[in-house]
Formats: sequence, C-alpha cells, structure tokens
Amino acid sequence: MDYELKYCPLCDVYAAQYQYWEDRNDHVVACLQCGCNVTAYSKQQVINTWNKRPEEEKLLKLLHECYMRFKSYQMDVDMSPPEHHRDFMKRIEAALGT
Ligand SMILES: [Zn+2]
Repeated sequence: MDYELKYCPLCDVYAAQYQYWEDRNDHVVACLQCGCNVTAYSKQQVINTWNKRPEEEKLLKLLHECYMRFKSYQMDVDMSPPEHHRDFMKRIEAALGT
C-alpha cells in the first residue's frame, strides 16, 4: 500500500478503503463501517481529501500559540514555574511533537 488513510471522521475507526470505479472514472475512499465517502478525479486527490482534518490543523495552530505564550510567560517571570506548569508544558510539547 503506497498510502495511508486516516480514521473515519464519523465513526472514529480505521475502516476506510480506497477504490477506483472505472465505469464512472471516480476514485473513492469509503468507510467500510458507516459508508461515508469522498470521491475525486485522481487517487492522490481523493486520499488527500479523506485525510484532511481542518479542525486538527486549527487545534494544532492554537496549541502552538499556547505553547509560545507559555514560553514567553516563563521568560517574563523572575522565578521558576511551578511543577504543574512544567508538566503542562511537557504535555504540550509531546502533543506538538517538539
Ligand atoms: Zn465511518
């Protein structure tokens, strides 16, 4: 398999499958559990469409902003941050993969 499909956004399981419908010249990715699907004129396009999660991109951007603000806050404060603060930063860093 030369591609990876994300989980189904509706039923949250990894049950999607790519198919090419030759009679309609459609490339389709469909969830085998709930049947929701996307179609496109190329394989790459349909896979990109299926895998796109705009809400994830927005949340990552927000998380990154939160991280940067926390970092600047730590630099402004003339004392070391409390333990729970450092743990929170570690969790944010892990989520961002930094
Ligand atoms: Zn589904």
